[in-house]
Amino acid sequence: MPGTRILVLSDLHANATALDAVLAAAEGRWDVCVCLGDVVGYGPDPSEVTGRIRAMGATTIRGNHDKAISGIMDTVDFNPVARAAVDWTRAQLSAENLNWLAELHPGPFATNDIVLIHGAYQDEDEYVFTPSQAMDGLLDSSSAVTFFGHTHHQGGFSFLDTTVELLQIRPRATDSFTALRLEPGRRYLLNPGSVGQPRDGDPRAAFAIADLEHQIVEFWRVPYDITAVQERMRSARLPEPLAQRLALGR
Ligand code: ZN
Repeated sequence: MPGTRILVLSDLHANATALDAVLAAAEGRWDVCVCLGDVVGYGPDPSEVTGRIRAMGATTIRGNHDKAISGIMDTVDFNPVARAAVDWTRAQLSAENLNWLAELHPGPFATNDIVLIHGAYQDEDEYVFTPSQAMDGLLDSSSAVTFFGHTHHQGGFSFLDTTVELLQIRPRATDSFTALRLEPGRRYLLNPGSVGQPRDGDPRAAFAIADLEHQIVEFWRVPYDITAVQERMRSARLPEPLAQRLALGR
């Protein structure tokens, strides 16, 4: 649909307070919502966040945590802290929510003239941090604009002719958003950042809004009550490093 504004969420990681802040900031600015996976894992609110994403009707692909928690991937590659969170999360979720997670689409998944991936284009569990790792997605995607997550770093890459460019497109600490103008002929691999556990040095919740008709992608950051989330994590006896990293954004 022309003029459709797409709210792009990724790596929510069971953080309902961050998701609430994102939805409040984005209210009235979007028509459809897509989600790049890792709805759950690490955070204290798996049922709430799963329920909200389902109620919003967001087109959702699976992340590695969604796969591990719903039992369709083993946790041998997870560190002990992540594995402890997987076990805790699985015990919180209803059979129906676990089933919804297990049946999520794998990426790449095309919708609304964009393509969704969790990790890399050819491997949903691989990280894309560097231009060479971005090359597959930039070249192989069926759309000029592809969104990915998994790294929890807001930003991305663009490609024209033979050159990949790293895009530094995070809003400054004093700004809520920064806009990227898409150039015709250029291809993009863009990361909205993580809603629930940012790791790019800015602890604010991250998301993006894409308006392909006007060729604009906005990259947003919004503050949320990190202390409240940390308190819920401590009451749930989730591993302490997971609580501490929220305040650092690392
Ligand atoms: Zn993640």
